[in-house]
Amino acid sequence: MSALPDRKDNFRAPLDPYGAVTHEVFNQPVEFGDINLFDSDAALKEAVKREGAGWATDGLQAFGARAGSIDYLELGALANKYPPELDTHDRYGRRVDLVRFHSSYHALMKASIETGIHSSPWTERRDGAHVARAARSYMQTQVEAGHGCPITMTFASVPCLEAQPDLAAAWLPKITARVYDPRNVPVDQKQGVTIGMAMTEKQGGSDVRANTTRAIPAGAEGPGQAYELVGHKYFVSAPMCDAFLLLAQAPGGLSCFLVPRWRPDGTKNPLQIVRLKRKMGNVSNASSETELRGALGWMVGPEGRGVATIIEMVAMTRFDCMIGSSAGMRMAVAQTIDHCRQRKAFGALLIDQPIMTAVLADLAIESEAALTLTMRLGRALDHRDEAHEDLLVRLATAVGKYWICKRAPGHAYEALECIGGSGFMEDSPMPRLYREAPVNAIWEGSGNVQCLDIARAVRRSPQTLEAYFAEVGSTKGENAVLDQHVAALQDDMRDLSDFESRARDLCDRLAVALEAAALIRAASPIADAFCRSRLESLGAHNYGALTGVDCKAIVSRAAAR
Ligand SMILES: Cc1cc2nc3c(=O)[nH]c(=O)nc-3n(C[C@H](O)[C@H](O)[C@H](O)COP(=O)(O)OP(=O)(O)OC[C@H]3O[C@@H](n4cnc5c(N)ncnc54)[C@H](O)[C@@H]3O)c2cc1C
Repeated sequence: MSALPDRKDNFRAPLDPYGAVTHEVFNQPVEFGDINLFDSDAALKEAVKREGAGWATDGLQAFGARAGSIDYLELGALANKYPPELDTHDRYGRRVDLVRFHSSYHALMKASIETGIHSSPWTERRDGAHVARAARSYMQTQVEAGHGCPITMTFASVPCLEAQPDLAAAWLPKITARVYDPRNVPVDQKQGVTIGMAMTEKQGGSDVRANTTRAIPAGAEGPGQAYELVGHKYFVSAPMCDAFLLLAQAPGGLSCFLVPRWRPDGTKNPLQIVRLKRKMGNVSNASSETELRGALGWMVGPEGRGVATIIEMVAMTRFDCMIGSSAGMRMAVAQTIDHCRQRKAFGALLIDQPIMTAVLADLAIESEAALTLTMRLGRALDHRDEAHEDLLVRLATAVGKYWICKRAPGHAYEALECIGGSGFMEDSPMPRLYREAPVNAIWEGSGNVQCLDIARAVRRSPQTLEAYFAEVGSTKGENAVLDQHVAALQDDMRDLSDFESRARDLCDRLAVALEAAALIRAASPIADAFCRSRLESLGAHNYGALTGVDCKAIVSRAAAR
């Protein structure tokens, strides 16, 4: 027999009674959370009041407390950790086109819909309605961006559908209802529905005129009539929506259609999901490739005027891209400052290390500028009955969407680096913010396409440019750097014949001037620092290269706690 040592004999008490304790965890921050995302955001609170939504403060405060709680922030992480999955068929082989989501995703959708992020300006048409909704969406998107896609498309579908009063009467009550019903069942069984948008095809996304999907009249032709659609869509986000606004070639040209997932007779409409996209970010949001195999759709707006009809929707989603990118920047700033105020290196808190203070201040400047312009445009949306505001919406939405979305990725990268190695880890929110950052710039018209749209706006309607210069000119005399910038820009915009070849330069300058003017109008304490750092050295801007600026004051204003 082998002489196995007796287990008792083999036991040896540790020589060092503390030997099992390898180290104490110190110099690591406490978890970010249980922070009121409204109360802790000075720039947001000021913007809400200034732009006409002071009446919404109590509701926003309550929402901010909920959104910033640790449990709620966790929903955002979970919705991305467990991505949606597609079942094209059930186990018996029947076509279902069902997308399954994690419960956290449904919780976020429910919260967004029940608090009216998908509809409040349409159901409560009052001064400040767009501003209040933008503020709520801004906080919700800080928690999770992906589910914002169907929320924004549902919100934006309303002005588009209003072009077709019979369809609007049937659909709008359910679109605007504060009821989240994710079931894959016909619309008549639901009190609340969501709407998607499908324009992009394989051969063309920006150039939707290249769409080849055909619309064949099912009977009578024209607005409000039923058509059968045959073709494909290469990007259809949120394919579990109850209906989609899409473009297809009718006999009279490219037209807009409303295509539900179920036919009125209760059978499945053959709008079939081929697969879900494998995306680098925006993971919680399902995006699909679909085929239309004779799907029934109803024409929205005049035949051949599809782009003009759906552009009403696109205008609103572009505004939401501004909110979304501003929200990403705000969360990055809040996380980063929170980390640096708790983490020491070389004998001092990071927040007090001068180079870091400057970087943090600069990130905060970028974030507040984006929010301030976004909320200024929210006000313009609330006052479209005034000519100046309406013209501003036309031009400044394209300018703001172009610029704010384009600034987000670099901002996320710099913020991530402030956190150091743990900012690069998947259990930090920073990778999600980083991977999410480029998407707003791509959809709803990518950067160059926004520049082309700006060119189109100023050529077709020179009043839009006059309104723009009236807006930035309203601050004349307040900041010499801005005055100089605007004068030079005005000179360079006189001859627009070669706009396209100078477009990036001109649009960048249009954008920073608009942000600067918005900050000055808002009497923001960062306005001067913005003008120095963004107007004096345009194109050479690198985070932290601030001089003559009270960086500590800026950081303290932006800190979430
Ligand atoms: C995550 C995700 C979800 C999406 N969801 C949807 C959706 O739900 N519904 C939908 O319809 N689409 C959706 N899209 C598609 C998106 O809207 C398109 O990708 C976008 O419009 C660009 O089209 P494209 O990919 O065909 O690129 P292209 O049109 O080929 O453009 C490629 C590049 O060329 C530039 N460009 C185009 N024309 C010009 C020009 N004349 N001069 C200079 N530059 C030019 C563009 O700015 C872009 O940078 C989604 C995309 C992504 C990434």
